[in-house]
Amino acid sequence: MKNFLKKLFNKQEVITTPLTITSSNGFHLRPIAKFVNEVKKYKASISLLANNKETSATQVPNILALSLEKEDTFVLKVQGEDAQKASEELTLFFKKLMQEDNEDNIKKQLEDEKEFYEAQAIKGSVISKGVAVAKTITYFKERIINNNAINLQEALSQTAKDLQKLYEAHKDKKEAEIFLAHQALLDSDVFQKEFHNIDQAIEELRGGRFESRMLDYQDLKKRIESHMGVETKFRLPDNQDYILLIGKEELLPSEVEALSKLSIKGVILSSGSTSSHVAILLRSFQIPSIIANKTINITNQNTLSLLDASSAQFIASPTPHDLEKAYAKIEKLKTEQNQAYEKRFEKLMTKENKAIKILANITNPTTAKEAQEQGADGIGLFRTEFLFTEKKPSIEEQTQAYEEVFELFDEVTIRTLDIGGDKSLPYIKMTKEDNPFLGIRGIRFSLQELNLFKEQLLAIFQAVKNSHTNNKTIKIMFPMVSTTQEFSQAKNIAQAVAKEHNLDISNIQFGIMLEVPSVIFALKEFNNLVDFYSIGSNDLTQYLFAIERTHPTLSVDLSSPILMETLKYIKANTDKPISICGELAGLEKISSELINIGYLNLSISPKIIPSLKNNINIKLHG
Ligand code: PEP
Ligand code: MG
Repeated sequence: MKNFLKKLFNKQEVITTPLTITSSNGFHLRPIAKFVNEVKKYKASISLLANNKETSATQVPNILALSLEKEDTFVLKVQGEDAQKASEELTLFFKKLMQEDNEDNIKKQLEDEKEFYEAQAIKGSVISKGVAVAKTITYFKERIINNNAINLQEALSQTAKDLQKLYEAHKDKKEAEIFLAHQALLDSDVFQKEFHNIDQAIEELRGGRFESRMLDYQDLKKRIESHMGVETKFRLPDNQDYILLIGKEELLPSEVEALSKLSIKGVILSSGSTSSHVAILLRSFQIPSIIANKTINITNQNTLSLLDASSAQFIASPTPHDLEKAYAKIEKLKTEQNQAYEKRFEKLMTKENKAIKILANITNPTTAKEAQEQGADGIGLFRTEFLFTEKKPSIEEQTQAYEEVFELFDEVTIRTLDIGGDKSLPYIKMTKEDNPFLGIRGIRFSLQELNLFKEQLLAIFQAVKNSHTNNKTIKIMFPMVSTTQEFSQAKNIAQAVAKEHNLDISNIQFGIMLEVPSVIFALKEFNNLVDFYSIGSNDLTQYLFAIERTHPTLSVDLSSPILMETLKYIKANTDKPISICGELAGLEKISSELINIGYLNLSISPKIIPSLKNNINIKLHG
């Protein structure tokens, strides 16, 4: 009797559960079909209630007709024998379905554009989209001898003196011994008698027992040659359009800017990764570029080749039809870019009318000016190390650079030197590391090179004073912070510098790049210390997935749910102002998703600001 009553009661019980569509695709055919399939496993009568309409949950066309879009809600109505079980399980199933659909969506969006060409194409990975038709030439560097050169013997003795001085200056540090070791190497025949064959001697070390000496030899060679007035320079034609193939010669981050001033139409890297600093710079100059997954040999440098970086293809000998297609694509891209450029100063808002800021990543005052022209709402990342790459700037030179940027914007985030990893300074001897991205980098470097760090802080403070920035938001950001101690140590140094020079820094905010995973698990402690965060997705993904950002063959899957979950976790665990300044922020395919999670401040390369703004606007408001 009891059982019968229970059964009867269960049969009549109606369980209603409101469910919200969270996938950007809405409740579309594929998830509906999966849901209906699941519904059919239960005995209960199951229906969906939306927009005052009720429809059976077993009918795909009827559910489709409800036209449920993202953020719409429906009620799952379950009645009958296994109602409780069905309701609970279907609720979970639906939520999982939505999450998977969103992830699929990101994955699909991140796929390269498809394009079919008649001639044989070499596939690669996209660094910066765009299409180019031009001759392809191979990158090479020339050694240029300065006329005022001194002879080898003098250069050798000068180098020995330099090494002695370096040893004296770093005597108290473990790595100072390297300078003594180099002095000893300098006495060997390789340098004293066979210097004219030094390149061959270096090459002979490759693969042998003493391969690790290659770097020491190269280092010494550079020192000696600099005294002899030898400079390594790339020589490229400046009066013709071309696509540049980077083969054996390494392209350094410091060389990309110079390249951008030449008539370069596109770049193909033979190896590397899309989140290396070289790749970031190529993207920031909007040079169509790819990383080829195969060695390319250009047999005829005089015919036109085709680089379709949007679909990650290089075609050495395109057919006339391929060329026609490429020219049409170039025109279309130009029109789209012009349309976006017209609207670049329009303010961006979320659907809920919250302001979205598109800030710029810059490297110097020139790129800051460009950011202003492109409609940036401020500077979200000033990569100051690029002011230091060729020679050490004086405090005055630095101050002037910072002042010029403060003049242009009301909000500026200056990142202190981020040296280490794939960025070095020619005038600072750095210990060779097996894993430089896990070594003396970012704030760790600054806390070792205290003079350089203090000079930079002083220059920023003086620029703040000279520029009367009281009504502006000036932020100082420390890179690669992994512990609260590092942040506190750096901030204490900043305060001591200000005190020593009697400068008021009460209006300056101090924060960190959030790019080392340890910070995620110490957010509570960091929240009490920092004024803001900026997520460096390039490094955060590198450290999260243990995939070096310059790795030639491995790359992080940006559509990974782990990444999105990490970003959601960070957002949920801090109320401090937070932005994203890594390359992720500039990906059209992901940025609206980031905004949906709550990241309303995105900092990106100046040149892509108009198109990203336009794209976000269309995605959010149609
Ligand atoms: C990052 O790591 O995402 C970042 C913005 O800094 P950088 O690329 O200069 O390391
Ligand atoms: Mg970084």
